[in-house]
Amino acid sequence: MTFDLTPEQDQLRDAVRALGRRYGHSYFVAKAKAGEHTTELWAEAGRLGYLGVNIPTEYGGGGGGITELAIVCEELAASGCPLLLLVVSPAIAATVLARHGTEEQRKRHLPGLADGSQKIVFAITEPEAGSNFHRLGTVARRDGDGWLLNGRKCYISGVDEADHVLVVARTEDSSTGKLKPALFLVPTDVAGLTRSKLDMEIVSPENQFLLYLDDVRLPADALVGESLDAGLPALFAGLNPERITVAAMGAGTGRYAIERASEYTATRKVWGGRSIGSHQGVSHPLAHAAVQVELARLMIQKAATLYDAGRDLEAGVAGNMAKYAAGEAAALAVDTAVQVLGGAGMTTEYGVATLLGAVRAGRIAPVSREMILNFVAQHVLGQDKSY
Ligand SMILES: Cc1cc2nc3c(=O)[nH]c(=O)nc-3n(C[C@H](O)[C@H](O)[C@H](O)COP(=O)(O)OP(=O)(O)OC[C@H]3O[C@@H](n4cnc5c(N)ncnc54)[C@H](O)[C@@H]3O)c2cc1C
Repeated sequence: MTFDLTPEQDQLRDAVRALGRRYGHSYFVAKAKAGEHTTELWAEAGRLGYLGVNIPTEYGGGGGGITELAIVCEELAASGCPLLLLVVSPAIAATVLARHGTEEQRKRHLPGLADGSQKIVFAITEPEAGSNFHRLGTVARRDGDGWLLNGRKCYISGVDEADHVLVVARTEDSSTGKLKPALFLVPTDVAGLTRSKLDMEIVSPENQFLLYLDDVRLPADALVGESLDAGLPALFAGLNPERITVAAMGAGTGRYAIERASEYTATRKVWGGRSIGSHQGVSHPLAHAAVQVELARLMIQKAATLYDAGRDLEAGVAGNMAKYAAGEAAALAVDTAVQVLGGAGMTTEYGVATLLGAVRAGRIAPVSREMILNFVAQHVLGQDKSY
């Protein structure tokens, strides 16, 4: 067993950290407040190969795994730039296409995802179904050679920045008459697809949308994979990378908040010559949060290692646990940082309260803490399903 990164992974971590620090949290917040996107950072990360670290080399990527992509997510977040679209475009969409797309789909999309010139976002959540994905109501029907999609999606991140949405829909299986899931590459400018922006209480340059699919006509090759049978495995292929990278983003955000807070409490003096950090009422909550973040990082490392070794089932358990741990640790770290900074904690200038909304959302999305506890209770502890 080793807890060391390889020299290449170490170099990647240092290089991404240097890039993230050049932009920093003030850049991230300024973009969010101006209603703009982090276009420059995304483009530079793409040019330097960081967005494609997990994409096979024959499609322009770095040929690494989710371990490498988790490093990118964590380090950008640790520099104050938690980019949610990393979780969607390189982690979910690129993995789904690399593992289950047709050769034509891989050639068409992976090079653009690798260099950042293309973004593909992911739409599974629906207003009526919520956490119950078995109730998905978006339906894809055969339409001549192609498909006709109808349905609604909600909270879909980054639609305004993407050229395609990977939409999870149901299709009718002609042999059984049952509805089964399939993934479709839907161009964001296709007729019949409309969107409305949701007002979210999150300081972020990335936005969430309601999506309306009304008789969206797609060609046959919009279906991900060679046949309808690719649907379920393709959908599951995206879930572990999503959980692991969102966890990495949470751990990075937690590190960022603890670092900001520690710098402040080590130098701020309000009782004579001693720093406020010398009071254990201040330092212990910070130290506790640091322990929780480090525990989450270990789970992330384990989950990514299992995933990259092709041990998908074990990676599923570890990835869910890592996501849970990192979600809780990030929320604790940011809340603690706000508290120990006192009034400064609530200012925009000190850059910690600006993360409150994001880390709170990290306990809900992309899978809520309760649904992870359900998963662990059932699949690890052997409990009956309660719902
Ligand atoms: C910032 C943000 C970005 C997002 N981006 C995307 C995206 O890009 N693409 C996408 O498809 N979706 C996205 N989502 C949606 C997200 O995945 C869902 O919000 C999440 O899965 C929860 O679904 P819901 O909001 O419908 O909650 P609901 O299912 O309505 O649940 C409400 C509450 O009840 C709890 N609950 C529900 N069922 C159970 C149960 N059986 N046992 C115990 N508790 C239960 C939940 O944990 C939650 O606390 C995003 C959400 C946010 C906040």
